[in-house]
Amino acid sequence: MTNSPCVIYWFRRDYRLDDNPALTAAIATATQAGCPLLAVAISPSRTTNSFVGELDRGATALAWAHATQNALHRQLQAMGQQLHLVTDITSLRQLAERLHVTHIFCESIALPYETDEVTALSVGANWSIQQYPQSSLFNADMLPFPVDDVPLVFTAFRQAIEKASLRAAQPLAPVRQVPPPPSNFEFNPPAGVPVVHHPRSSMAPDRMPGETGARRHWADYLAAGHPHRYFETRNQLSGHHFSSQLSVDLAWGTLSVRRVVEMLDAFEMRNGASKSSYWLWFELMWREHFRWLHQRFGVKLFHARGLAKATPPRRVKNPRWTDWCRGETGQPLIDAGMRELVNTGFLSNRMRQIVASYWLNDLGGDWRAGAAWFESQLCDEDCFSNTGNWLYIAGLGSDPRGGRRFDPVKQMRDHDPAGRYQRLWGISA
Ligand SMILES: Cc1cc2nc3c(=O)[nH]c(=O)nc-3n(C[C@H](O)[C@H](O)[C@H](O)COP(=O)(O)OP(=O)(O)OC[C@H]3O[C@@H](n4cnc5c(N)ncnc54)[C@H](O)[C@@H]3O)c2cc1C
Repeated sequence: MTNSPCVIYWFRRDYRLDDNPALTAAIATATQAGCPLLAVAISPSRTTNSFVGELDRGATALAWAHATQNALHRQLQAMGQQLHLVTDITSLRQLAERLHVTHIFCESIALPYETDEVTALSVGANWSIQQYPQSSLFNADMLPFPVDDVPLVFTAFRQAIEKASLRAAQPLAPVRQVPPPPSNFEFNPPAGVPVVHHPRSSMAPDRMPGETGARRHWADYLAAGHPHRYFETRNQLSGHHFSSQLSVDLAWGTLSVRRVVEMLDAFEMRNGASKSSYWLWFELMWREHFRWLHQRFGVKLFHARGLAKATPPRRVKNPRWTDWCRGETGQPLIDAGMRELVNTGFLSNRMRQIVASYWLNDLGGDWRAGAAWFESQLCDEDCFSNTGNWLYIAGLGSDPRGGRRFDPVKQMRDHDPAGRYQRLWGISA
């Protein structure tokens, strides 16, 4: 291994070469200095550490994480590079010391745990850390309000964005060349773990992680004209195309949300815009809103009471916890949803709302426990959206109506009147 200086690129939730400003900057720095570039990621952990202690990660979610890293590794290999895995932030720091690193580039993630990771990497270090926010549609300087005044209520946020005619920041061109890695470096590359979807999963059998698959999936969804049907189908409980299933690609950063909107705009130019195609943008605005709310409120969002003045009377240690997680509550629709979640790593938005409301309102559970279970099971786990939605339903976040209750019996009548979804998950309806 050389003793010459080196630049590290640390992939976090941005496993792509397209529209990746942080990676583009890292390459420019390494190229200018004539030094090698090492691409690094932290191995996915088998467990998540949460409010309710250590939870085993769902099998599909874990496989998806491994396969995402492996897909990027193969993309890098085609350019004479590789992805090197480290176990945790301490080993990343030790590696940087060993390699005489001058710069570490990465995506900036405005969440408490991720901010602590960067602090652990920077305190007393000899390198400079360069972070780039790159998972949202807009940069802070594009917003029509200061970050400290991001509207709390979604409608006010969306209307201000639309009034300012904001659509998305211009995506950057994909990276085509990467400087070589340090010579004689012993790589620990990600293993090729297969993702096998459950036969009843809403994720189609050919839905695979990685940038190439993600781009193909979105292009196919557009080419099939699904955006013009989205408004009518989006509340279905299962199936392959009732919603876009962009969430897994956006959560892992295998697709840039800015590229998604650029392609949606091109679709509307070719095929005309409709209320339905607009609604995809509308939903992406929800994602965007939760991201900026985290920028504004930070760690406050993780308190038991969220943004409310008082903590609601909910049982932190809830005796129905295991029943809810396993889908054994006795409420047929809830049990079907929770079984789908565990078996597939995915759940429709409607079912997420229904099972979350049941945990909060019918079982009196703590929102942080529910959010932790989702985090451990979902392939598209995204802390911004997960926390934002749980707080919203609990009435501790941005809902102007102070929370939502989804009556499971009414939801069965409205969305599963013939019991098809319940039967799909082994519940006789
Ligand atoms: C309790 C709860 C927890 C959730 N946890 C997550 C999570 O961890 N990760 C995650 O990506 N989404 C989460 N969501 C939001 C939403 O359910 C999923 O994004 C959506 O169901 C994913 O399917 P899709 O990509 O087909 O969505 P589509 O209906 O096709 O929507 C397109 C995109 O818009 C965004 N979007 C849609 N609805 C929402 C929403 N309510 N909030 C934020 N963004 C939205 C997503 O990026 C989604 O991919 C959660 C919702 C609830 C109610």
